[in-house]
Amino acid sequence: MPLPYGIRHVSELPVEGKRVLVRVDFNVPLTKDRKVSDDARIVATLPTIRHLIERGARIVLCSHLGRPDGQVKPEYSLEPVAARLAALIDQDVVLTDEPVGDGARKVVGDLRDGQVALLENLRFFAGEEANDEGFARALASYCDVYVNDAFGTAHRAHASTVGVPAIVADKGAGFVMAKEIEILSRLLGDVDRPYLAVVGGAKVSDKIEVLDALLTRVDGIAIGGAMANTFLKAQGKDLAKSRVEEDKLPVARNFLRKASEARKTVYLPTDVIVADGLDATTGTAVGIDAIPAGQMALDIGPATIETYRRAIKEARTIFWNGPMGVFEKAAFANGTMAVAHAMADHKLALTVVGGGDSAAAVAKAGVADKVTHVSTGGGASLEFIQGLELPGITALRPR
Ligand code: ADP
Ligand code: MG
Repeated sequence: MPLPYGIRHVSELPVEGKRVLVRVDFNVPLTKDRKVSDDARIVATLPTIRHLIERGARIVLCSHLGRPDGQVKPEYSLEPVAARLAALIDQDVVLTDEPVGDGARKVVGDLRDGQVALLENLRFFAGEEANDEGFARALASYCDVYVNDAFGTAHRAHASTVGVPAIVADKGAGFVMAKEIEILSRLLGDVDRPYLAVVGGAKVSDKIEVLDALLTRVDGIAIGGAMANTFLKAQGKDLAKSRVEEDKLPVARNFLRKASEARKTVYLPTDVIVADGLDATTGTAVGIDAIPAGQMALDIGPATIETYRRAIKEARTIFWNGPMGVFEKAAFANGTMAVAHAMADHKLALTVVGGGDSAAAVAKAGVADKVTHVSTGGGASLEFIQGLELPGITALRPR
């Protein structure tokens, strides 16, 4: 399927013998002794990097790592990433001493076809996050072709995501970015119905724009997590000591009224798992009208799991964001694991997961490769499914 807005896929770009700047997301977690503790984001970019190597491009990778706040801080060096990438592709990866400057220019100038360089952490210079024109020009001077494969930062207008593609004419999306655009765009188009959204997580305040946007597209919304508490309280339920956003009760009430006017189905928990507090190691299932004083709702209950499972089974398009409970703890992970498995077991539906903790939950359930798509971008995927324009994607449109 071609990408929207005439955006070109990296495989359609003229890269042979060309210097290709690739914005990747190498913002990986490091151990205390500065080793890569999870290389999933590096592995994810391998299809783009291998493609460019095979096509004889001169590859200049660039990324941020952590928040060095515009200063050169050795603890945020991409050195461990360069080492891991070199091992994965079984060839040298030359790391520059700074993202731009004489050293970087020389490394890029010396590249031969099929060789790989990595610019040092882009956020060592304040110009990256400020989308400074001079910084963008310096980066653009290292390339003939620009590729963005960092979907997770596509919602940020930085020099490497927006400034550079504004200057470079030959540009396009890498394999990671292209898949994100292709699948998430399907959720904004003519989907197979019923379309169900499953939304949970910590706060109504984090997600109300997402809920509002989803409401206009879906047939039903199943709500779980701490977010459900606020909706249940808005309906007059007694949530005892559960996490509730008291100041969001009118927002929740308003949302439920809009949903009913639009004749959309909203599923809320009919039972929950309660405990004394977040440190508890076991919980008890109770009906939503029977939460004991002093207890907290920390997961959806078995009857609710059954209802949500059935709604997922009946749907033909499902978007899931936000855990159903405190899934980090085994005692309160059942609801989240059940949703993950119900999505994974679906043989007929488009099943998409967005959000950092939700992606972690799907990985924990061991089913990341059994759903249609797990988005690599937390905030970026939520902005995308709201139909918002992501500056890093807009910047890839041909002029
Ligand atoms: P995502 O990153 O997928 O968008 P969020 O960040 O919104 O998800 O929410 C994830 C967090 O919500 C998890 O840390 C989880 O423990 C917490 N959470 C879910 N349900 C509850 C609950 N009932 N009470 C307290 N915290 C909860
Ligand atoms: Mg989160």
